[in-house]
Amino acid sequence: MSTIIERLLIIQDRDRKIAQLMRETEDLPAHTHEIESRLNAHRESMKASHDEVKKNAAAIKQVEVEIDTCKQKIAKFREQQFQIKNNDEYRALEREIGVVQKEIRGLEDQELSLMEQAENLRKMIADREKDLKLEEGRANQDEDVLKKRLSNIQAEIHDLQVDRTALASDIDPAWLSRYERIFKRTGDYALVRVEKAASGDYAACGGCHMKLPPHLVHEAKKGLAMTQCSFCSRILYWQP
Ligand SMILES: [Zn+2]
Repeated sequence: MSTIIERLLIIQDRDRKIAQLMRETEDLPAHTHEIESRLNAHRESMKASHDEVKKNAAAIKQVEVEIDTCKQKIAKFREQQFQIKNNDEYRALEREIGVVQKEIRGLEDQELSLMEQAENLRKMIADREKDLKLEEGRANQDEDVLKKRLSNIQAEIHDLQVDRTALASDIDPAWLSRYERIFKRTGDYALVRVEKAASGDYAACGGCHMKLPPHLVHEAKKGLAMTQCSFCSRILYWQP
């Protein structure tokens, strides 16, 4: 194998590592988003509970107002009873009072069940507050891990790039720019081994796996000039 191929293989190794790390940094925002949406789900269910509490308090107030109105009605009937001499009319008002009293009992039952509901809501909110606290703690930890991971990756990428620049300064610019174009286009390898078919009777490109014409295999074996696959243009090298 020629020295230039050996050096390009090292550069390719650095480039592949850099590309892999770049892909990892691109995945990180999705993880952050996942943490945030988990936290938001908890916050929303907390808000929903508080809304329930408000609705419940308003319902209790409404029932209390209705009970008051009923009591005022009864007081008015009682006043009327004082002014009435006629027994039938007196009894008629007594019946009216009975109806309103029944209404009050119904309203008081409603109030009681609303108060029970309020108690349950208080318990639920306490539970959800606990869950939210836990989730916030977990989210902070996860975000710290992601931040650390990101800064580690950035440092790794930086070191690899410094190393790569030093390695590249030693390479024939014509080879280097050809290599870079192919690497960018294929996204995987610019340099590939000549590989033997399973049957052993022909050689193929290690990148696109097409059968190579014998003269290309011969050239790659000699390693004097740049040999490119006639199908995918990847640079071929021979490694026995
Ligand atoms: Zn090929």
